Amino acid sequence: MNYQILLYYKYIEIENPAQFLAGQRELCEKLNLKGRILIAKEGINGTLEGAPEDTEKYIEEMRKDLRFKDTHFKKSEGNGSAFPKLSIKLRDDIVSNHIKELKLDPAKVTGKYLQPEELHEWIKSGKRFFMIDMRNDYETAVGFFKGSILAPFENFRDMPKILPEIEHLRGETILTVCTGGVRCEKASGFLLQNGFNDVYQLHGGIVSYMEKYPNEDFLGKLYVFDGRITMGFNTEDPKHVVVGKCSKCGKPADTYYDCKNVACEGKRHFISCEKCIEKSQGYCSVNCDSLSNRDEKLNYTSSGIA
Ligand SMILES: [Zn+2]
Ligand SMILES: [Zn+2]
Repeated sequence: MNYQILLYYKYIEIENPAQFLAGQRELCEKLNLKGRILIAKEGINGTLEGAPEDTEKYIEEMRKDLRFKDTHFKKSEGNGSAFPKLSIKLRDDIVSNHIKELKLDPAKVTGKYLQPEELHEWIKSGKRFFMIDMRNDYETAVGFFKGSILAPFENFRDMPKILPEIEHLRGETILTVCTGGVRCEKASGFLLQNGFNDVYQLHGGIVSYMEKYPNEDFLGKLYVFDGRITMGFNTEDPKHVVVGKCSKCGKPADTYYDCKNVACEGKRHFISCEKCIEKSQGYCSVNCDSLSNRDEKLNYTSSGIA
């Protein structure tokens, strides 16, 4: 393995976020790491890529700080191009800047942790519980847990939209899941605050579960927020299934494209099969295609006249 990707978060009070940011920048630059780190008073949320010896050194340095001694670093293989650069930003919130009004503080209210091994056991034993996927619709479009309830979110700030969907599950055992666990810290707390009493969260997220039990209960691929876009474990395994659908012809597909029309008004990020992407020449819709063609023709005509 030439490159390693780290995914981690920690909700812990950071007294001086600006000073902490400067330290993180220095450390990451020294270790030639690229990626994205969000820092807020409530904690840190990061994804970093680098040579394995450098990412390991990063973990070692972080753990010297007692606040991050028990931070769970999820590791996966990178290709060296997951991120174009290093970006470290100060935010009000480490998952989304727009849910402040929900007043969620995982340090005070959050769901009970369920380890991947425990979830595996729950599934095998047929325990009665309801799994709710707290990710966005474009993420669940390429992969999800068998039998889970998919949240109707375009963005994490849509969180209140889950309530009417699960109203009938009050009194039941609920398990929230997301990519690496950071969103569930808040999402599970949100359910507790809204009258659900028996709420768990998958510790370490789907990425930790998939790593231990590839191609078992999580179907398809996991959407990730870096240059890989999606990741799978043992995708050559015949048990691996494609759950995504081409947005044009509906056939199984799980490759994302960004519409070639930079002013795209549709869902710019879309799934397509190879045939359809070739036919559409990279546009999400006929609309985007004809608009840009018209522009090209106009340009051609006007330059022709000139
Ligand atoms: Zn297609
Ligand atoms: Zn488009």
